[in-house]
Amino acid sequence: MQSSPHISPGFATKAGENYALKKTWQLASSLAAQVAEYMRGHQMTTKYDAIVIGTGIIGGAIGLELAKKGFRTLNVDRLPAAGYGSTSNTCAIIRFHYSTAEGVAMARESYFHWLDWPKYVGHPDERGLARYVNTGCLVIKEEGNCFLEHVIVHLEELGVAYDELGAEKLAAFLPYVDCRQFGPPVSADDPRFGEPTGEAIAGAIYIPESGYINDPQLACHNLQRGCEARGGTFRFNSDVVEILREDGRVAGIKLADGARIDAPIVVNAAGPHSFKINQMAGVEDGMRIKTRALKKEVAHVPAPVGVDLEVQGTIITDGDTGSYARPEVGNHFLVGSLDPRCDSHEWVDPDAYDQNFTGLWRTQVMRSAQRLPALPIPGQHSGVVDLYDVSDDWLPIYDVSDLPGFYMAVGTSGSQFKNAPVVGKLMAELITKVEAGQNHDCEPVQFDLKYTRRVCDIGFFSRLRELNSESSYSVIG
Ligand SMILES: Cc1cc2nc3c(=O)[nH]c(=O)nc-3n(C[C@H](O)[C@H](O)[C@H](O)COP(=O)(O)OP(=O)(O)OC[C@H]3O[C@@H](n4cnc5c(N)ncnc54)[C@H](O)[C@@H]3O)c2cc1C
Repeated sequence: MQSSPHISPGFATKAGENYALKKTWQLASSLAAQVAEYMRGHQMTTKYDAIVIGTGIIGGAIGLELAKKGFRTLNVDRLPAAGYGSTSNTCAIIRFHYSTAEGVAMARESYFHWLDWPKYVGHPDERGLARYVNTGCLVIKEEGNCFLEHVIVHLEELGVAYDELGAEKLAAFLPYVDCRQFGPPVSADDPRFGEPTGEAIAGAIYIPESGYINDPQLACHNLQRGCEARGGTFRFNSDVVEILREDGRVAGIKLADGARIDAPIVVNAAGPHSFKINQMAGVEDGMRIKTRALKKEVAHVPAPVGVDLEVQGTIITDGDTGSYARPEVGNHFLVGSLDPRCDSHEWVDPDAYDQNFTGLWRTQVMRSAQRLPALPIPGQHSGVVDLYDVSDDWLPIYDVSDLPGFYMAVGTSGSQFKNAPVVGKLMAELITKVEAGQNHDCEPVQFDLKYTRRVCDIGFFSRLRELNSESSYSVIG
C-alpha cells in the first residue's frame, strides 16, 4: 500500500489546498487499503498455473523448475521466509551411499548441480550464494549395511571414486579413529553399551567427493530469487487450510485469512506437514505408502581433542555405532543418529511436539565417542531439534495423486536435501507429461539424468509401490 505523498513546504499551493490534497490522499489510501483487505480476505481470486505448498529446499526447487518451463508459479508458505522449515536445521550432507541404485544415481546427479550452483540457480542473489564444502566421507562396513557390497556396485556403475580401507589402513589415514567393532548398536542402558564387540571393524570405504552445503537456508533464498527472476511469485505468512476441488480435479487453495487462490495444479512440498496437506486434499487413502513426522536431534560438539577438522575432518557414517558426524565450522562436529533398530521412534504432531532435547542427545554423542575416543561430551546440550518427513519405507514419494492436478514431493525421510535440484527437475517433468495426458500410474514417466547419463523411472517413487525391501529403513535411505 502506498503512503501519503510528502508535501514539501515549497509546494506552490495555498495552505488550504495543501490540506485538502493531503486529506484526499489519506482518504484514497485508506479506501484502497480497505478494498485490498476485503479482496484478500473474501473475493479476490488470484490465478496461477501452479501452486507449490512450501518454500523449503524441495518446494523452492520445484518452483524454480516449473518457472523455467514457463509455468506461472506461486510458492506459498506459512512461515515468514524461504527455508525456515525443517530445511533450516538440516545437516545438508552431500553423499552417495544410498541402499538403492536409484538413490545413488539421484545423489550423484544432484551433486553436479551443487558444484555448479550459480549456473543452476541462474540469477544472482543479493545475499550471496550457498556453497558446497568438500570434506570426503568415510563409511564403516557392518552387517546392517551388508558390508557395503551393494553400495560399492552402485558407486562403480556411476563411476564414483572410492578407496577401500581395512582397519589398519584406516587407523593410519585417520589416527583419531578407534577401529574396534562396537556393534550392533544397543541402547545406553544396556550393560554392553560402549563395550567393544570385536578386535576390528570389517573395514570402510572413503569417498573423496562428498561434503556439505554451508548455508541451507541461503540455498532456499537462492532458489526463490532464481524462480522470481523467471516470473515466479512467493507468498509468506500464509497458512494453507484447504485444498480446493472443482469438477473432479484440484482447483487451488484457501488460506487461513480466507483468501482463495486458483490454480489447476497444486504441489504438496510441505515437509513434515505433508501428511496434513494430503489429508486436506483427501488423497491419503489412495496412498499405499504414507508419511509421518519424526522428531530428530542433532548434537553440536567440539572436535576430538587435538584434532583440527579443517585439516583432518571428514564425514563419518558409522552404522557400527549407529551415529554419523559431520565437520562444522569452528572446529566442531554435528552428530546425528543413523536410526539403529534398538532406538524407538518418536512420531509427533508437527504442530505440537516437545522441542527440547532428550536423553538421545547424550546417547548419540556417546556412540560417536566410541569411534572418536577424544570427542568431548559437553554437559550442556547444544544443537538442533527438528523433524523428518518419513515415509513407510524411508524412500521419498515423488508422484501424482488420486486427485487430478494434485502432486506430491514428500516423505523425504531425512535424506533428500542433497537431491533437491533433481527433485525439482523430476517433478517439473512429471507434471508436464501428466498434464499433457500421460497416465503415470499405468505408464510411469521416464526422466533423463543429464550428468550421469541415465534414465530415471519416476515410478520408482510411486505412492502405490510395495514397501521397498532394499531400503535401509533409516536416514541412509
Ligand atoms: C535434523 C535434520 C538433518 C538432516 N540432514 C540431512 C543431510 O545431512 N542431508 C540431506 O540430504 N538431508 C538431510 N535432512 C533432510 C532434508 O533436510 C529434508 O529432506 C529437506 O530439507 C526437506 O525439505 P522440504 O522442502 O520438503 O521441507 P521443509 O523445509 O520443512 O519445507 C516445508 C515448508 O512447508 C511449509 N508448510 C507446511 N504446511 C504448510 C501449510 N499448511 N501452509 C503453508 N505452508 C506450509 C512449512 O512452513 C515449510 O517451510 C535432514 C533433516 C533434518 C530435520
